[in-house]
Parts: sequence; structure tokens; C-alpha cells
Amino acid sequence: MIKKTNTPGTGTIRYLLGNSTFSFSCHCGVACFTRCCHDADMYLYPYDIIRLKQCLDLSSGEFLAQHIVTAFRENLSFPDVMLNMSDRKGRPCPFLSKSGCLVYEDRPYSCRAYPLEPAMSGDGKDRMAIQCYVVRHRYCLGHREQGDWTASQWMADQQMADYNAINAKWAQVAALFSNNPFGQRAFENPAMKMAYMASYDVDTFRRFVFDSSFLSRFDVPSDRLDEIRDNDTALLLLGFDWVRRFVAGQGPLQERPGADRSNPS
Ligand code: SF4
Ligand code: SF4
Repeated sequence: MIKKTNTPGTGTIRYLLGNSTFSFSCHCGVACFTRCCHDADMYLYPYDIIRLKQCLDLSSGEFLAQHIVTAFRENLSFPDVMLNMSDRKGRPCPFLSKSGCLVYEDRPYSCRAYPLEPAMSGDGKDRMAIQCYVVRHRYCLGHREQGDWTASQWMADQQMADYNAINAKWAQVAALFSNNPFGQRAFENPAMKMAYMASYDVDTFRRFVFDSSFLSRFDVPSDRLDEIRDNDTALLLLGFDWVRRFVAGQGPLQERPGADRSNPS
């Protein structure tokens, strides 16, 4: 039996899907078309930033300056990053046009996954498992459409494999922040700012890697070094490894013998 929960006052239902199926279809013929692209509280993950900034031909710094807001919410040690809805009537997503989503091929994970809400959990040995919840908003008529999906079928249809693989690695990093490693005034903490740069501002992180003492401190194999020069995703994964190393002393990135351990860079 599937256990369903209601969010009081919203009419939203959420339940763990498990091995069951759900009915859903979203297309331009539904009466609610683009309703969900307005006034959304949409979290962005590091790989979302890479896909969107490439799609929009912006640097990561330009994308962050133009399109995000940050807030310390559930985690007081590291900020959440959210897409900044436009100021126009109804607060539409800045990437919404009359014909639909302008960044559809690179739309964020949350848009891609809906109505699924994947939750990742680790086994402490670099393996992550995904459990999927189904979220049903009252306004969303897609749940009344035909279509019978398992979680795996839906994720394959929405081309979520790359997102899932990288978000699983991000979940390992994000789990470290729940231990409050940056103290009470985290927003002023230099190590937190380093972790934020590596996670969300990949172009600045690239300059940091190649223009600072980073490569004399950390042992980055030559094939990985070649890859990160112009591959944002490979660089992001190096950033995750670096954050894991300086926050928790874990992960595959090794310091060179004699490196100064008091300084993340
Ligand atoms: S990114 Fe696209 S799908 Fe997501 S809210 Fe914006 S317009 Fe809608
Ligand atoms: S069916 Fe749901 S997901 Fe699709 S446009 Fe309507 S509200 Fe959005």
C-alpha cells in the first residue's frame, strides 16, 4: 500500500513510489500548460548551473549574477541556490516563452524530474541509491492524463542519467555541510566561499586551479588535468573532490607530500 502525505493548506500530495507506477503526461495541450513555470521555489544544483550557462552561452559568474538567489535555509552552514523568477506578472521563470521553455534540452533537474522527486542516500562507501517520491500539485492536470510509468522509465524518458550520476556525487558533498563545518557565521567563512566557488562557479574555479598554488598542493593526474581545461563537468567533479578533501579529509584527491594542510588552496 502506498502511503500518501498531504502538505496542509496546499492540496499537494507526496508519496514514495517504490516499484509501483504512476500516470502522467505533460504536453502543450493541457489546460495548465506552463502553470508550474510561475512563482516556483526552484532549487538549482551544481550540474544545473553548468547545463544552463552553456545553453545560454554565459560564464558561470554571469549566470549566477543574473539568475540566482541564495539563502541559508535548512542548512545554516551552506546556502541553497534558487532560480530567480522574473518580476513580471505572475512571476514567470525567466526562461519561459509563449511557446514554452527556452532551455528545454538543458532544463533544471527539478523541472526534468517532475512529478518525481528523487531522494539520494549513501551507504558511506561512495555508492548512492535513489528513491523516488511522486508529488502531485492540485493545479497540475498532467496526473489526469494517460501514461503509466515506473520511476526508471520516467527518468530514462526525461534523460536524467547524467543528472543523477553527478547529483549523486553532489549529495556526498552536500551531506558534509549538514555537520556545520563552517561555523555559526558561515556566510563570512573563507572555506565556505571556496566550497561555494567550486560547487557553483566553475569558470572562477578553473582560473583558481590553474592560477593559484592548487596544482602544486594537490596531485591531479595528467589525463584528468587535460580534461578539466575545457570540460566543465570534469572540473566540477574535481571541485567536489577538493571540497571533500578540505572539509572532511575524504575522497580520491590526494595532497602532495609536504603540502600545507592549514590552507585549502
Ligand atoms: S526552466 Fe523551463 S521548464 Fe523549468 S520552470 Fe523555467 S520555463 Fe519551466
Ligand atoms: S501538466 Fe503539470 S507539469 Fe505539465 S505544464 Fe501542467 S502543471 Fe506543469
